[in-house]
Amino acid sequence: MDTRTPEKRSEIMSLVRAKHTRPELAVRRIVSKLGYRYRLHAKGLPGKPDLCFPGRRKIIFIHGCFWHAHRGCRGGRPPKSRVDYWLPKLRDTRRRDSRSLRELVRLGWKTLVVWQCELESTNLSRRIRKFLGPVKVFRRRKKKSG
Ligand SMILES: [Zn+2]
Repeated sequence: MDTRTPEKRSEIMSLVRAKHTRPELAVRRIVSKLGYRYRLHAKGLPGKPDLCFPGRRKIIFIHGCFWHAHRGCRGGRPPKSRVDYWLPKLRDTRRRDSRSLRELVRLGWKTLVVWQCELESTNLSRRIRKFLGPVKVFRRRKKKSG
């Protein structure tokens, strides 16, 4: 039984949320360091993708393992208390996520999901580069005049 006051609980939740943004920052750092430009939280697209690369028609989602219920991951396990609150909530998020991915693919976007637990992986930056392709491919060559 959860005996915390609503105030205490919302304080805890906001801490969790703040932590949750850290994976996104970490991925943004990697992406910028590699030299890619991106748009944040593209509002017009399904699921408001975390990072959007319009010229490449590619999208990166960064998912916290808990909030997005990462399957087969320690961090993705639902809490044991307040099960009737958490299970439907997490299930809805999962459904929303897969709906957004399907929708984006249908619209011609390529998507990559980076999970929080994958941030430590040494080849994350290689994986991102492989997904996004060469950095400068979209730079147009200047025509010679004359
Ligand atoms: Zn995970």
